[in-house]
Amino acid sequence: MTFTSIIGQHDVKMRLGSAVKGVPGHAYVFIGPSGSGKTTLARAFAQALLCENATDIGACGHCVSCHHFGNLVHPDFISLELEPKEKTIKVEAVRSKVSADIAMHPQFGNRKVYLIDADNINEQGQNALLKSLEEPPAYVYYLLTVSGLERLLPTVRSRVVPIVMQRLSGEEIQQVLAEKNIPHSELTAFYARFSGGLPGVAVNLAGSEWFSTLREETISLYQSVCTQSRAWLLTEGY
Ligand SMILES: [Zn+2]
Repeated sequence: MTFTSIIGQHDVKMRLGSAVKGVPGHAYVFIGPSGSGKTTLARAFAQALLCENATDIGACGHCVSCHHFGNLVHPDFISLELEPKEKTIKVEAVRSKVSADIAMHPQFGNRKVYLIDADNINEQGQNALLKSLEEPPAYVYYLLTVSGLERLLPTVRSRVVPIVMQRLSGEEIQQVLAEKNIPHSELTAFYARFSGGLPGVAVNLAGSEWFSTLREETISLYQSVCTQSRAWLLTEGY
């Protein structure tokens, strides 16, 4: 996935493009609320860091590395995320998937990338992670995602470069919805406004039957305010 295939985030994409073309840092944190697209962008950056022919618009999408990345079998891309039914990422998982793993050299190219859902790592886990962040081997790159920088321990925060996700415009949100085969309509314009510039929220709302029903019922209730009795509004209308 190239950076250009991601809608919005102009300034962020420019920064990442410069990093790919130049000398990237070894630890970044992508900051944004749920639905802001931070994980999607971090994954595109990871693919670009591993790609054999990356440019300032991201990965080529055609090399062997990109092929493996696209098929979710890249040996040098490690994703640490919350397991189903777990409430936090266990400290043992941080140790086995990151701390112990970084000593092993890349199997494929000359880089390894760790994508880490830092929102779900508690203090103990972050302390375990810190040891790996302090002196990583030259081939290791960390991409953390987090909803707010305050969720990271100050010691972790001081070792990562912040990448702050931007809110999308209404027009950009409509483009995101169009890419998901949700054509522009009065309803999608409403989703774009209601999402607060968060593409993931807009997509979820557009696919949510209950939200659409709730909206229609709310509109209907408001329209009834002038014509129905108070008793009706407080009973049947409600
Ligand atoms: Zn490639």
